[in-house]
Amino acid sequence: MQYLPIAWRLVGQTALVVGGGDVAIRKARLLARAGARLRIIAPEISDDLKAMAEKSGGEVLVQAYQASALDGVSLVVGATDDGDVNAQLHKDAVERNIPVNVVDNPPLCTFIFPAIVDRDPILISISSGGASPVLARWLRSKIETILPSRLGDLAQIMGEYRSQLAKKLPSIGARRQFWEGTLEGPVAEQALAGRLDEARQRLQSAIDSADAKKLSKGEVYLVGAGPGDPDLLTFRALRLLQKADVVLYDRLVSDQVLEMARRDADLVYVGKARDKHALPQDNINDLLVHYAQQGKKVCRLKGGDPFIFGRGGEEIDKIAEAGIDFQVVPGVTAAAGCAAYAGIPLTHRDYAQSVRFVTGHRKDGSVSLPWDTLVTPGETLVFYMGLVSLPEISKNLIAHGMRADMPAALISRGTTNDQEVIVGTVGSLPKDIQNREVHAPTLIIVGEVVGVFPRYSWFRSQAEQN
Ligand code: SAH
Repeated sequence: MQYLPIAWRLVGQTALVVGGGDVAIRKARLLARAGARLRIIAPEISDDLKAMAEKSGGEVLVQAYQASALDGVSLVVGATDDGDVNAQLHKDAVERNIPVNVVDNPPLCTFIFPAIVDRDPILISISSGGASPVLARWLRSKIETILPSRLGDLAQIMGEYRSQLAKKLPSIGARRQFWEGTLEGPVAEQALAGRLDEARQRLQSAIDSADAKKLSKGEVYLVGAGPGDPDLLTFRALRLLQKADVVLYDRLVSDQVLEMARRDADLVYVGKARDKHALPQDNINDLLVHYAQQGKKVCRLKGGDPFIFGRGGEEIDKIAEAGIDFQVVPGVTAAAGCAAYAGIPLTHRDYAQSVRFVTGHRKDGSVSLPWDTLVTPGETLVFYMGLVSLPEISKNLIAHGMRADMPAALISRGTTNDQEVIVGTVGSLPKDIQNREVHAPTLIIVGEVVGVFPRYSWFRSQAEQN
């Protein structure tokens, strides 16, 4: 982050604008809108600008710039096309610790003006850090089109009732629940439709009947976070993630997905620590119950789908036992995500009529799987957690009748920017990866469908790039 966006209350403060032309007018208008008193200094000042300064309760100085104009100002904007004046102004302002912006000259700015979407009192600022103001403005127009025009009215009404609600519901969590419900209900609809009095009446009666106990009830969301690419989150996953007070996550959940949580949510890591010990499953279950019993909305984020090799079943057992409300949100499981991003169809009318998800996880030092049933014509096998056992998997499949040249692929960090696909055969794959650095997590796909892979040249070039 190169700049910190802050919202600055300028009402009654003096803002200096150096320059008297069109650029100066644009900036002066914005500053006046924020309630600043304008001081304009330039040898020539347009009548419009003079009128604007006067209306703001400020003053105009029809003269060349001089440092004394900085006396008592909170911020200064340089809007002249004179390089010397701009440089001097920047130097003078910095010496006096006054924030300075020289239009279109980032090196001479200690602050920049973001593009804004103004639905007063709602304000959205967009900045490209000076890299591309055009891109920032383009984004602004996109955001403008999706925001209801009466958003400001809704914010205004919610503001009016804030302190009343705070008296009725002392718990912050309960209030957040209340407002979130309000945003999805008729009060918001009416306000956004311009029926402000009706919206106020409804809000009043909702506050009168608000039930603190019900609103402070904890809940657990068991949410599939998908295999890594945040675009693969479901809408519901995103919604709940942004609602949660606490987010419990593990190693498989990508940083970009975590970024989607509410800024003030507690993020609790429950995966393997540096010493490689994951928090025991029982502790995770207890933690979920513990937070929910405090009245919190708890999001348990799990890589892929929570019910596929995710121990999601055990977690909800405990939650249900404790009488806590919960919901389970499916996610894109690694097999589906990796296969799609690698260009390997898991089933295919010509090659595979079924697909089987298998765990290669070792228990007591070996993989125990019903090998004879795994070697079935027309079936794709997907091994989760199979990297360590790959030699054993390969050996057993061949020993139980699979041809050694059956196509097989290993996909590492599937769906992320670091995805790697290594294609070989069930016989060769253990050797193929022997002298390569392979990053977890990895998935192994075995079957004729892997042979289809070279046909999808787009995926192939992607894989090679990686
Ligand atoms: N619930 C998860 C699976 C958890 S088991 C799901 O539905 O995907 C953990 C295993 O999932 C890893 O060992 C690996 O085999 C697989 N996996 C998860 N994410 C992956 C990814 N991005 N790329 C490759 N394999 C992945």
